[in-house]
Amino acid sequence: MSTGPLRIVIVGGVAGGASAATRARRMNEQAEIVLLEKDEFVSFANCGMPYHIGGEIPDRAKLLVATADLLRKRFRLDVRTHSEVIQIDRASKVVSIRKWPDKSVYHLPYDKLILTPGASPIVPNLDGVGSTGVFALRNIADMDRIRSAVDALTGTQRKAIVIGAGFIGLEMAEQLAARNFDVAIVELQAHVLPPMDAEMVVPLQEELNRENVRTYFGSGLSRILHDKGQVVGVELENGARIDGHLVILGMGVRPNTKLAIEAGLEIGKTGGIATNRFQQTSDPDIYAAGDAAEYLCHPQNQQMRVPLAGPANRAGRLAGEHAATGKSAEMSPVLGTAIVRVFHQTAAMTGLTVKAAKRAGIECRSVTVIAGQHAGYFPDAHPITLKIVYSPETGKVLGAQATGRDGVDKRIDVIATAMAFGATVRDLAGLDLAYAPPFGSAKDPIHQAAFTACNEMDGLGSMLDADADLSGWQVVDVRTPGEIAKAPITGVSKVSAIPVDDLRNRILELDPAKPTVICCGVGVRGHVAQRILLQRGFRNVVNLSGGATLRRRAVPEK
Ligand SMILES: Cc1cc2nc3c(=O)[nH]c(=O)nc-3n(C[C@H](O)[C@H](O)[C@H](O)COP(=O)(O)OP(=O)(O)OC[C@H]3O[C@@H](n4cnc5c(N)ncnc54)[C@H](O)[C@@H]3O)c2cc1C
Repeated sequence: MSTGPLRIVIVGGVAGGASAATRARRMNEQAEIVLLEKDEFVSFANCGMPYHIGGEIPDRAKLLVATADLLRKRFRLDVRTHSEVIQIDRASKVVSIRKWPDKSVYHLPYDKLILTPGASPIVPNLDGVGSTGVFALRNIADMDRIRSAVDALTGTQRKAIVIGAGFIGLEMAEQLAARNFDVAIVELQAHVLPPMDAEMVVPLQEELNRENVRTYFGSGLSRILHDKGQVVGVELENGARIDGHLVILGMGVRPNTKLAIEAGLEIGKTGGIATNRFQQTSDPDIYAAGDAAEYLCHPQNQQMRVPLAGPANRAGRLAGEHAATGKSAEMSPVLGTAIVRVFHQTAAMTGLTVKAAKRAGIECRSVTVIAGQHAGYFPDAHPITLKIVYSPETGKVLGAQATGRDGVDKRIDVIATAMAFGATVRDLAGLDLAYAPPFGSAKDPIHQAAFTACNEMDGLGSMLDADADLSGWQVVDVRTPGEIAKAPITGVSKVSAIPVDDLRNRILELDPAKPTVICCGVGVRGHVAQRILLQRGFRNVVNLSGGATLRRRAVPEK
């Protein structure tokens, strides 16, 4: 145990670590605070790195958010870079530190220790993975190396392969295309952005197609092809070969838990360091935050890893305060709210998708609406596809996903905020949101989705999932003949086409005893038709969620 003022030692000096250190200082002017970082830089903007490679953030210095010098001067932090913590001796409360490059080792006692060592990119153990031109992106050194390679490749060499179509993979694909690379994305799963539900990411896929980014799904990487040590392409498990002089590995991350494991700290079910609501580990004098830690996640109500910057910064801040003062607020449950831009499209999500709910054994229903981000009569209106996942029993909102050109961030953030307060779909239906034509609609897409869910809960209009098997149903398409000709309903052989405005006059063409599914463009006229039929003796009438538009994404045309 050290003597003198409280000594707080922090392992890792970026998102979680820098937040912990500066909060600790603001709460305790007397404490000795040592920030240990194994690399050259502290407190840099990991999230901005793809955009420097792509040239959208031209000034590299802008990514160095707070330099070691600033942290020393303003916060009187003892910042030690090139200092890797290699061991924690919990009994004597001492960490061992290896200095780079001379590799000398020294020991430093702590009163409180905060672990924010982050995560490391997954690098598969495959032939050719060490070739020149193969990179993963985690820190400034990686970024510099990738940017140099991007600058150096010329002419026909400007071909890149991004492995993994998750958030970072998509950002890198977009930014490499901006640097005039011919870009291919390889994804083991069946679609881009695997955390989201399949039909929700179709607009992203279409955007990638428009931007000439090629995509390869459903087959993993088998080996990296190289010529005299320089990468020249990849081979997939299905035998396909793709040329490229630059390969970016965006296959996810592994939490850096070696130190914690060796120190005997408890590791949670998802492989992160187990923590309580004050970010204390199984040793109350040791805290953990960021990509290496687990958080209480909602709506699962489980401890899980969420490798995102927001939770890392908030949890780091709380850990710093608790370590410095012995008290703090509790870490709020994490929803995993995330967003990505892919050229002119944005995709975002919060909480549970339908597939995640199924995996977790949580019963759910979902509604999807396709509606303008602002009033349709105002210039530049573009559709947002918004899906809300909720509990059929209580109406509690379990999650949301959205894709679109504009306004996706606002909808997902509003819903994430509502979820933080335990909102139901009825609460969403009643939200008083700001509206004028350039910004939204008097009935926002959030309201429309919530109204639909409430209608379903109140027995006023059941929805049928966009990918449902329509055999056995009387399918009624209530669009105009012109609309139907342009985009027929997919995955169905027999359809009765009756425009909604003619439905009352032509109702005798339909059999009220048959289960009936109504389809329109996006589901709005379908609900009107559904209400007409339900009030005229039809017993079982459902509305196809998201109409023919969503159906065509969920069940592609053959
Ligand atoms: C390219 C990229 C883009 C991203 N974009 C987004 C985004 O848009 N939105 C989002 O929410 N998240 C994004 N993230 C994720 C986000 O950056 C991380 O979730 C966040 O940085 C995690 O914070 P952390 O403190 O746990 O780890 P880090 O910020 O990675 O910091 C960990 C630090 O600990 C150091 N370290 C590790 N072991 C030791 C040791 N033994 N001794 C000393 N130092 C050690 C490491 O060198 C590292 O600098 C992105 C990540 C990357 C790589």
